[in-house]
Amino acid sequence: MPRESRQQKATGGANSSDCERLIQTLLLDDKVSRIRSVKETRARGLSKIGISTVRDLVYHFPFRYDDFSTIVRIADARLGEKQSILGTVEEVSVKRPRKNLTIIKRQVLDGSGVLYASWFNQPWLIRAIKPRTKLLLLGKIEHHFGYKRLNSPLYTVISQAEESGEADDTGVNELAGIKPVHHATSDISAAWMSRLISEALEATGAVLDPLPVQLRIKHQLMSRRFALKAIHFPADWPEQRQAHRRLAYEEVLYLQLQLMRRRRSEVELGAEFSHRITGEVLDRLSNSLPFTLTADQERSIREILNDMAAPEAMNRLLLGDVGSGKTMVAAYAIAVAHASGTQAAMMAPTEVLAEQYALSLGPLFAETGISWALLTSATNRQQRHQLLEEVASGRITVLFGTHALLEPDVEFKQLTLAVIDEQHRFGVAQRQALREKGPGCDLLAMSATPIPRSLALTLYGDMEVSYLRSRPRATTRVVTKLLSRNNRGEAYDAIREALKTNQQSYIICPLISFGKQPVPEKRDQEETEPELITEFSAEQDSEHIKAAEQEVVFLRNKVFPNARIGLMTSRLSSADKRKVMTDFRMGKIDILVSTTVVEVGVDVPSATVMIIEDADRFGLSQLHQLRGRVGRGTDDAKVFLIADPRSDEAKARLQAMVKTNDGFKLAEYDLSLRKEGDILGSRQHGATALKLINVIRDSDVIQQAHDDARQLLAEDPDFSHPQHYLLARELETIYCGDEE
Ligand code: ADP
Ligand code: MG
Repeated sequence: MPRESRQQKATGGANSSDCERLIQTLLLDDKVSRIRSVKETRARGLSKIGISTVRDLVYHFPFRYDDFSTIVRIADARLGEKQSILGTVEEVSVKRPRKNLTIIKRQVLDGSGVLYASWFNQPWLIRAIKPRTKLLLLGKIEHHFGYKRLNSPLYTVISQAEESGEADDTGVNELAGIKPVHHATSDISAAWMSRLISEALEATGAVLDPLPVQLRIKHQLMSRRFALKAIHFPADWPEQRQAHRRLAYEEVLYLQLQLMRRRRSEVELGAEFSHRITGEVLDRLSNSLPFTLTADQERSIREILNDMAAPEAMNRLLLGDVGSGKTMVAAYAIAVAHASGTQAAMMAPTEVLAEQYALSLGPLFAETGISWALLTSATNRQQRHQLLEEVASGRITVLFGTHALLEPDVEFKQLTLAVIDEQHRFGVAQRQALREKGPGCDLLAMSATPIPRSLALTLYGDMEVSYLRSRPRATTRVVTKLLSRNNRGEAYDAIREALKTNQQSYIICPLISFGKQPVPEKRDQEETEPELITEFSAEQDSEHIKAAEQEVVFLRNKVFPNARIGLMTSRLSSADKRKVMTDFRMGKIDILVSTTVVEVGVDVPSATVMIIEDADRFGLSQLHQLRGRVGRGTDDAKVFLIADPRSDEAKARLQAMVKTNDGFKLAEYDLSLRKEGDILGSRQHGATALKLINVIRDSDVIQQAHDDARQLLAEDPDFSHPQHYLLARELETIYCGDEE
């Protein structure tokens, strides 16, 4: 079909009235059964895959296209490639070599050569494809006894045998397009799905465009009605790409607007507060540091202090690889709260980590004159009581802690800064609960999950992001090596070597224990961020998987009889955990056999060797986090990944670990291996609305949409301009019931 007439049809006629356009726009959110061919049973079939409205149907995008658009001559068709051929059926043969097998073979000629096409067990083709039928075929060209062959190709009948006198090529162009392939259901075939969608598109061909026209002009985006038509039934590839670009941009723009608006409504609840960002305390802090800050740390501190000085609440995410020095950046933010005469809270997902703050920042704060305390579930009643009183009266400035901080009786005199470390390990409700201890307070969230900027914007479009890319002590080297199980001895030798110089080692196991039921290490908190982890199934051949409780016995008896070996899992009591960590830190334990509980935050500079057993059981980000536990001092470190990976993908992942120490590179690599849907995961707020965006490939689009959303809201925060009415309605429709 020529372009103009397509367009005419797509728009439901050039001059559909405003009223008609409104009706069609409203139809989008009507029941899918409003579409003519969607009878009751089909409606039920559709609802099984979540299609209940006309909109759902129209946004059920093809997952693939079959390209009949470039026809090659049989003589030119390249072996091994997917190509389409236009030819006439010459000879027909049907074979039934076995009872349940019918093979239909067609010889096809196109003037340049001969090609055989065979289909299996599709007896109806005997009548559909007779001699002298003109066919358009699509498939992979194979070689077969000296001839070119297509095995079960897709086909379209161009003209039937009866009609064909002389070759008649009219209509070829119409059929020889790019054919969408839609996901089918058990009740509705892909072909029917395409047909229903086509009907739905016709019924809504005049929908209004919610995207403000200035944005369409700015990015040269096609209209929604044409984009919807073109993403399903593109005339050619450029058209498909344009449609994709328009719809993908729209997806992120709406997500960004939604995130930013939700945030705005949160912020409006609190009082405004401007921090004082100067004072002796900052100088004293700088003077007591045993090192100079890295350039990245200085820049991040500047960004944070600027936000804190502003009356609006800060909402900043500090992203930095393990060991990049985030804690010290947080210390400056806390010092600013102190300088302003107000309070700060710093929350960690684990007790081990919370205690780490007390150890690393405590003395520094004491020297600087900032009073602090630590509150965890291990704090005894009496201490707790006194401590809470001092916090409520404002005598204590900084409260470090775990979830224990969220208890209702923890009250501050005036909390103006909440720091949440490893923030992805907390749920939205928990983050919110901490902030509510100081309405309108500034938030500094920190994460070592290395998220590329485009993904950070997608997940946290409502936050500002600061990056720590360099490491303070880049002089130490961490070498990673992949060993098969049989070569584990080399890793043990490295530990023996380390023992000689009083350096310490970690041995990480995926399981806590075997027992009747293998016990995997649990994740402490609801994951709200994509956990870069491969499926872990404890049941599956668990006897080969290392479990910490059994491994520690084996190592003590058989491998390192003279070393002091400790055990660390989440099954230990808080007191025991603390004792083990203290002993390890003090050098009273040489080798710590542990599960992933040591994954975050643990900082023992004299640990230089790590063995990760069954490394293929862990996700890349987890492996990288674990690796970050060594090489934190002045000595070089070695990491041994023990695995016999079965799949190529598992091998590639582990090799990526060997190749690079850069967490951001690993994350990008990991993301590039995944399918789009997996990246955001269904847990992620608003992610269901993202169907077309790929965070790595489309990073430009994401950045653009982010900037546009911000500008749009700055100009018209309540969508009160008439050109934004439709946009507001669209957002409400997409995100209704999606409030957290
Ligand atoms: P992160 O929380 O980002 O993983 P930490 O804040 O725990 O990293 O810092 C890792 C280690 O680096 C700590 O021992 C810390 O004292 C040290 N450190 C932080 N900043 C610097 C710096 N600028 N120079 C040298 N060492 C630093
Ligand atoms: Mg940290």
